[in-house]
Amino acid sequence: MEIKKELLEKMFNFHGHKCWASTLGFRAGLIALRGLGAQRIGSRGLYAIVETGYFHGAVCFLDGLQYATGCTVGKAGLIWKPRGKLAFTLVDPKRENK
Ligand SMILES: [Zn+2]
Repeated sequence: MEIKKELLEKMFNFHGHKCWASTLGFRAGLIALRGLGAQRIGSRGLYAIVETGYFHGAVCFLDGLQYATGCTVGKAGLIWKPRGKLAFTLVDPKRENK
């Protein structure tokens, strides 16, 4: 999956610095969106259950994921369970039980 450099730079601006973990979260979020057939903008009700911890790489991963999916705490689109791993589940309520 190719990520446009311009989009990646916007994510780095959002995150505040360039790092591997935000890039990984960004890429993982884009892949999850593609798997669901959802889009960042326009997928109403989309939310993420994130299992990262509080360590540096984990929160960077979380920022990348938020930027990719548009699922943020502020929009009640993110449930954060600090379990110390780089894992998440992206849920599109329109597709549940289908
Ligand atoms: Zn970072």
